[in-house]
Amino acid sequence: MPDGIITKVEESLKQLVLAEKPSVGRELARVLGCTQRSEGFIEGSEYIITWALGHLIELAEPAAYSDSYRRWSLKDLPMLPPELKLEVIDQTKEQFRIIKSLVERADIASLIIATDAGREGELVARWIIEESGYRGPIKRLWISSQTEEAIQTGFANLKEGSLYDNLYRAAFSRAAADWYVGMNVTRALTCHYDARLSAGRVQTPILALMVDREDEIEAFNGRFYWTLKARFGPISATLWPTEETSRIETEELANEYRARIVGKTGTVSEVYRDEKTMPSPLAYDLTALQRDANTLLDFSAKETLDILQGLYERHKVVTYPRTDSRYITSDILPTLNRRIESLTNTVLGPVARQYLTGGYGFDEGRFVQDAKVTDHHAIIPTEIWVNPASLSKKENDLFNLIALRFLEVLSSSYRYESILTTIESENLVFKSRSTRPLDLGWRRVALHSGLKSAEFVDEEEYHTEEVAAGQNLPVLDAALRRFTTPAPLRYTEATLLSAMENAGRLVDDPLLKKQMGGGLGTPATRADIIEKLLQNAYIERDGKELVPTPKGRELIRLVPPSLKSAALTGEWELRLSNIAEGIEEVGPFLSDIKESARLLVEEVKQSGEVFAPYFSESKTCPHCSSVMMKVTDPIGQAHFICQRLSCSYEEKEIKKRVFIEPEKKDPPAPRKVVVVKAAANPEAVKKRVVVKKKAPEELPYRWETTIEVVRPSKLHRRAVPQQHVFKERESSGSSFADLIRASEERKKRRR
Ligand SMILES: [Zn+2]
Repeated sequence: MPDGIITKVEESLKQLVLAEKPSVGRELARVLGCTQRSEGFIEGSEYIITWALGHLIELAEPAAYSDSYRRWSLKDLPMLPPELKLEVIDQTKEQFRIIKSLVERADIASLIIATDAGREGELVARWIIEESGYRGPIKRLWISSQTEEAIQTGFANLKEGSLYDNLYRAAFSRAAADWYVGMNVTRALTCHYDARLSAGRVQTPILALMVDREDEIEAFNGRFYWTLKARFGPISATLWPTEETSRIETEELANEYRARIVGKTGTVSEVYRDEKTMPSPLAYDLTALQRDANTLLDFSAKETLDILQGLYERHKVVTYPRTDSRYITSDILPTLNRRIESLTNTVLGPVARQYLTGGYGFDEGRFVQDAKVTDHHAIIPTEIWVNPASLSKKENDLFNLIALRFLEVLSSSYRYESILTTIESENLVFKSRSTRPLDLGWRRVALHSGLKSAEFVDEEEYHTEEVAAGQNLPVLDAALRRFTTPAPLRYTEATLLSAMENAGRLVDDPLLKKQMGGGLGTPATRADIIEKLLQNAYIERDGKELVPTPKGRELIRLVPPSLKSAALTGEWELRLSNIAEGIEEVGPFLSDIKESARLLVEEVKQSGEVFAPYFSESKTCPHCSSVMMKVTDPIGQAHFICQRLSCSYEEKEIKKRVFIEPEKKDPPAPRKVVVVKAAANPEAVKKRVVVKKKAPEELPYRWETTIEVVRPSKLHRRAVPQQHVFKERESSGSSFADLIRASEERKKRRR
């Protein structure tokens, strides 16, 4: 561009701001005083605000590298293109076109990345910039809350875009690693086992955790044990037959112990008093909040993130959600009072006012740690005044968790005295533990606001009765209780999030354990991983529990061992954080990933296993004899889907009540009728009507089951041989169990 032109337009040069999504874009436009709205952007005198819609660009599908990749085939694997290409996402290509036309405008002086201040947000922006061909200067808006003040301060202190180059490299490497591993292993599994199977770098080890737990539960053999509790004068104490445990292994022994002390006395041998301190809990990062919201509010991890995003973006009452830090930086300290003030109208108002007038004391060294905050500090309230009436019920509930924790953090430690009384009777040792609060400290916040603290601990009551060593006490009562050794628990979202965070625990190498830190996945992606496993039907929800499906269990049986390993995933996770810190290069990382993908494909190819999931309710495919999985559709109809991918036959059972005319006193015995219409009309073979059975009760109707072909088998398109159909129906539908099931299903439907 000739110099003269630059001088000419200099006065009206503008900065192009790229936000993550339209709502944030409009907010930035408001704060920056841009008012001129156009399709896909808002313009002002200094700034033009535009936005992405999440990702507008993605890594290209395999077909972009070779025509032969259009078909899934084992012989083309592994697919390891040296450089990965980018592709504009079709559904949102119009918005990309708008951004591209904006960056090409001559009056754009620089581009400000204002997408989500995190790894994924950086990737959203950098790919758009890359694909749009923009080569001018780049600045970065990096803020931790969406308040007007934070936005203004952020724009006054824009960072150099290059400061975030390493973050982009790490984000890109992660996406590339997921592509190389996911695309190759998914195709290898699908082709080799002729089944619709998918695997991923992070989702597979997480599924493996759940499948392992399910195996443990199945192998578990519970047994009984007993405890003996006796009342000595004013004190209840439990027998400890050994130093380690209060469990009594057999009922015989338990009865013997009980008989030994009935009517006797005990002597207090020791009263041990110990003063203990429980420091206030740490502030929330995303994972800890998702965990507590699941336990206390029944929110799924994704639900928590969605509600939190609204509190952050729309209501602006909390700080940046996708954080993995539980600390704040020292520059937040001067704003603490204003943040407490903002809670005055909420259920925490009484405590907030008390803190503002009476002051508060907390352990600064514990909460304020500049070194432990990398991108964003912990999730805490902003200075925006909170009006509970403007929040939904769920938003209020989640906000209260955050605010409660914030005030707990700003409180002193809980101090209490733990009293252990030991009583001996007939050579048996009984123990009684009691707790006397000395200073409630942070526990006061929950008590005074009527909320439940996530850190609430069940503790022994305080016995006001004091006893002293040497005192003799009569045995007033002695009772046995029977317990069962507890089975391993299924994962809930709360415990799964902990497991993902602490995946290091499953790793043996102590050095790696220390380095893994972040665990499986990152705080921002954990909710999505759970959702993806649910969508792919590898797990399902049962109340709060997450249960692996037969298909999920079969996938884990077939997947190469290294892809199930938390250790390997952790190693890669560590190298990615090294890339983000600039201490590792992208090149060697990706060549190791490619090598790993190649080995994984090789392992799958060499496996002699067969895909054979076990379903408790299933049928045999009439076309290929493979197992068919039962899936119930939203209106309650049972579908059976052949699990052999090259067949994929799917049928559904439609059960209808057919009323029998009253004059027919003697309805015919259960019988089967197969109707196969002439095959001239291709649609005709799609229905087989089977009159299955009469209802067990003497009601004037019978159940008729119609089998409707949802998707014909891909193996052969000709008509189904009549004989085959008949046999298949004969083998099911008339047993007693089927009658019971039909009756159960009927009841369910009536409810
Ligand atoms: Zn089949």
